[in-house]
Amino acid sequence: MVNKAIIALAVLLCAQAVVGVAVVSKAAWGGRNPTSKTTLGNYLNYAVIHHTAGNYCSTRAACAQELRNIQNYHMNSLGWADIGYNFLIGGDGAVYEGRGWNAVGAHATNWNSKSIGISFLGNYNNNKPTAAMISAAKGILADAVSRGQIVSGYTLYGHRQVSATECPGTNLWNEIRTWSNWKA
Ligand SMILES: [Zn+2]
Repeated sequence: MVNKAIIALAVLLCAQAVVGVAVVSKAAWGGRNPTSKTTLGNYLNYAVIHHTAGNYCSTRAACAQELRNIQNYHMNSLGWADIGYNFLIGGDGAVYEGRGWNAVGAHATNWNSKSIGISFLGNYNNNKPTAAMISAAKGILADAVSRGQIVSGYTLYGHRQVSATECPGTNLWNEIRTWSNWKA
């Protein structure tokens, strides 16, 4: 009994020490490889929060389908190299890989090369971000700091602060304005 408890505790501590937030890989959601990739610099000063303004999803299967639809739209209709965002947050509380780490996104004109872009699946003029989604987004932002993609004192913006858009939707906008790195 004691040995099992010690082993379980050791496994738990190891897991917490090495694993950040779990990211569902592009391969796992059935995404396509990019047609090209531009390397994003390290120690960036900004992160930009978006919504997709499309369908909300609350299961892995539904979010994967929505991601494939968005990627097809971005690549086939808009002619982009990949899905626009670095990471996406599903209504199932999962973080989904978009362009991922170290890749310049296509999410905020003039800001792509100096920020990472994180987008919530859904339309947050109507949908509301859940506690699990908020936790997931804060988790991937913390990982971005810990791996040196963005600086610890980064500025968090909603897309509407850098472009003429209502993105990321009023409900999500009201949420992110309470986050510690958000700045007016
Ligand atoms: Zn946006």
